[in-house]
Amino acid sequence: MCGIFGVFNHKDAANMTYLGLHALQHRGQESAGIASTDDYTMKSHREMGLVSDIFRANVLAKLEGGSAIGHVRYSTSGSSNLGNAQPLVVEYAKGNLAIAHNGNLTNARIIQEELQNYGSIFQSTSDTEVIIHLIALSHEDSTVERLISALHRVEGSYSMVILTNKELIAARDPLGFRPLVLGKLKDSYIVSSETCAFDLVGAKYLREIEPGEILLINEKGIKSYTPFKKKERKYCIFEYIYFARPDSYMFGKTVYSVRKDLGRQLARDTFVDADMVIPIPDSGIGAALGYSQETGIPFELGLIRNHYVGRTFIEPKDSIRHFGVKLKLNAMRDIVKGKRIVVIDDSIVRATTGRKIIKMLRQYGAKEIHFRVSSPPTAYPCFYGIDTPSRSELIASSHTIQEINKYLGSNTLQYLSIESMKAALGNGNYEYCDACFSGTYPSKFPWGMELGQMELFSRGEK
Ligand code: AMP
Repeated sequence: MCGIFGVFNHKDAANMTYLGLHALQHRGQESAGIASTDDYTMKSHREMGLVSDIFRANVLAKLEGGSAIGHVRYSTSGSSNLGNAQPLVVEYAKGNLAIAHNGNLTNARIIQEELQNYGSIFQSTSDTEVIIHLIALSHEDSTVERLISALHRVEGSYSMVILTNKELIAARDPLGFRPLVLGKLKDSYIVSSETCAFDLVGAKYLREIEPGEILLINEKGIKSYTPFKKKERKYCIFEYIYFARPDSYMFGKTVYSVRKDLGRQLARDTFVDADMVIPIPDSGIGAALGYSQETGIPFELGLIRNHYVGRTFIEPKDSIRHFGVKLKLNAMRDIVKGKRIVVIDDSIVRATTGRKIIKMLRQYGAKEIHFRVSSPPTAYPCFYGIDTPSRSELIASSHTIQEINKYLGSNTLQYLSIESMKAALGNGNYEYCDACFSGTYPSKFPWGMELGQMELFSRGEK
C-alpha cells in the first residue's frame, strides 16, 4: 500500500505536500519522498522512515517551487530499500519527470524483462519504473500522450501522480481499484489518495478522479482524458474494511460510516449475549461501535493502545510483528475481569494478533470471549496493492472457522459472510473488488496464469 499526494501552483508546494503525506501516513510507513519543481529544475528528497522524521525544515527548504508530488510507501512490490522509495525522478529526452504510484502492476515483470532484452537498464525492482521506461520509449509528443500510450501496456492497479517542470498529471486505472481524489485550495489544484489530507491542508474536495481518467493540470487549467474503454468499476473493498482512514470520504461514502454499517450487519448475523463489546484498536473500532449500537451491548475500551509504536502488521519482518502485539496493546484488567466479551476486529490475516490478545484477556480474567470479524475470511492474496500474503500465510485459506477459533482460543468465532458484506454496502450498487475474500479476480493474470502460478510469479519466484 502507498499514499500519494500532489499540488499544482502553490507557493509552499513542498510544505503542503509534507502536510498531505503526514495525513496519509497510515498508508505506508516504510519510506517517504517529495519531488518539487520551480518550472525549470526539479528537486527531490526520499528517505526510509516516517514523514515527520524525514522532512525537517532544512530538508523542506531545499524543495523549492510551486508544484510538488509526494509518496509514502509500504512495499507491496519490490523489496524494502531506498532504491524503491518514491517519487522516482528522472531526466529524459523531454525533460524532468517524477512519478509516485499507489497500486501494483501485475504484468510489470514481463514488460521489464522485455525492455531489458532490448537494452533498458532498470535502477529499482519497483513496478513503477516500468512506466517511466514506457513513457521514455513512446513516440508521442506530449508527456500526457506518452503516459496514455504507456498505460495501455500495463495491467493491474494504479493511482498515480506525475510531475514535470510545468505540469501535474494524475491517472487512475480503468477499474479504479485504488482511490484518488481531486481538490482545490484557492488557485491550487490538489490530488490525494484520500480526502483526510484535504482537511489538513484546508482544500475543498471537488471529486474523485474517475477510474480510467487521466487528468492534466497546467497553467491553462485542467484537462481530462478518458482513453480507455469503459469498464465495470472494482473499488478495493479492503480500503473500506481496513486500510483507509475513517474520516476519509471514499467511493461515495465516509469510511467510518461503512465500518459501522459492517458492524451493525455483523451484529444482526452473529448476535451473542455478552456484557460488553470491545474493539481491537484502532482497526476494529468502527465495526465495534456498530455492533454495540445494533445490539445494545455496551461498548468498552477493553484494550488500550500505545500510540507510539507503528502498526504492528506493517513491519515487514515476522519477528518484529510477533513482539509488536504486546508492545502495542494492553488489556484493561478491571474492565474485562469476569466478563463475557465480544471482541471485534476488521479482519484476520495470520491470526497472530487475535491469538495474543485473547491470551491476554484470559490472563486478566475474561470469562467468555466471542471473536467477531467485520469482513469475510481473508482467504486469497491480493495482486492489486494490498499486502495480503500468499495463501500459505493466510490462516483462512487452509483452516476452517472452527479450527481458527481453536487456534485463537476464543469461545466462538464468526465472520461476516460475503452476502452480508454486500448487503451492508447496499446490494444494489456493488462495484467492488473482493478477490481477497471471494477469490474472484477482476482481471486476468498475465499469460493466463492460474492462481498458484500467479502467487509464485508475483513473489518473483517464477
Ligand atoms: P493477523 O495477526 O495477521 O491476523 O493480523 C490481523 C490484523 O492486521 C487485523 O487487526 C487487521 O486490522 C490488520 N490487517 C489486516 N490486513 C492488513 C494489511 N494488509 N496490512 C496491514 N494490516 C492488516
